[in-house]
Amino acid sequence: MDDLPIRDELRGKSPYGAPQLDVPVRLNTNENPYPLPEPLVQRIAERVRDAARELNRYPDRDAVELRTELAKYLTRTCGHEVALEQVWAANGSNEVLQQLLQAFGGPGRTAIGFEPSYSMHALISRGTGTGWLSGPRNTDFTIDVGAAEAAIAEHRPDVVFITSPNNPTGTAVDAATVRRLYDAAQAAKPSMVVVDEAYGEFSHHPSLLPLIEGRRHLVVSRTMSKAFGAAGLRLGYLAAHPAVVDAVQLVRLPYHLSAVTQATALAALEHTDTLLGYVDQLKAERDRIVTELRAAGCEVTDSDANFVQFGRFDDAHAAWQQLLDRGVLVRDNGVPGHLRVTAGTPAENDAFLDAVRELMKENA
Ligand code: PMP
Repeated sequence: MDDLPIRDELRGKSPYGAPQLDVPVRLNTNENPYPLPEPLVQRIAERVRDAARELNRYPDRDAVELRTELAKYLTRTCGHEVALEQVWAANGSNEVLQQLLQAFGGPGRTAIGFEPSYSMHALISRGTGTGWLSGPRNTDFTIDVGAAEAAIAEHRPDVVFITSPNNPTGTAVDAATVRRLYDAAQAAKPSMVVVDEAYGEFSHHPSLLPLIEGRRHLVVSRTMSKAFGAAGLRLGYLAAHPAVVDAVQLVRLPYHLSAVTQATALAALEHTDTLLGYVDQLKAERDRIVTELRAAGCEVTDSDANFVQFGRFDDAHAAWQQLLDRGVLVRDNGVPGHLRVTAGTPAENDAFLDAVRELMKENA
């Protein structure tokens, strides 16, 4: 595509993407390993059949029924009452983040994130013409709050990303840190603060969502890709002050959320309790992986997500290849000395742990 008159900031760049390799144990993309339960599959089929009868019409542009159910879910699980007017939904939380950057970032504006973190924050910034600033973390991968406050005061970004639990490190952010960074961001600009809680349901700590109360510029972004085991559905959502929901509607494409997507998400929300049962199993497996990796001699970052960052390897990419040679695909996120493994089924995790033990012995 070098001969195309492509935007300068896209020239020579590669698209986002983890390798999709056909190996026995795939623990590289933070997916939920459990297929949707059969009664839910049946319910999706029913709801989609009903939606299909009206596919000659555009879907509900404002996805009112879906946003109402998402608001109920958040109210029930996050310890804070959320209304329909405070919720917005899109095709995956990536689209939610893109809409936020279209509305609050853009040419001449900047966003900051504390890296290593979710690489799409920087990529969506670039795609929307928003300048990207990389903020610091401590060596234990927690946010260096003092340095973050100083970076916000110096650069006065328009959007501040706080990922909790953070990807790829698994690190949760406490409410006091969010309050301090929010205050710093308001003093500097004011700017929007986006808390990306894609892995919120897996945390040992409660959601940060109650912090939106009294903070008009705070947004919490979430997804059905992880806890709901529905990465293929593409459904993300946010909770914030109703004015934020009005703002993203200025940039969303008309009818962006198909009737099939809305019907499927509504069916999944009817089965929330069953799906959250899988989350409990995954949390227990995540904790087991942390314990067993430490017992095997690895350095492991505390995790509040459905994945675990581990090391420390002299050559992380070589270790990644050694695990792949044993049929286990994990993720090399480019964090020096570290790899990331997603919690899978107990059998998948056993296969992964066996492979790591072998590798640690070999490399000792
Ligand atoms: N935020 C974070 C931190 C993520 O890790 C991911 C997925 N890897 C997303 C957002 C996007 O997820 P989705 O678009 O599937 O909702």
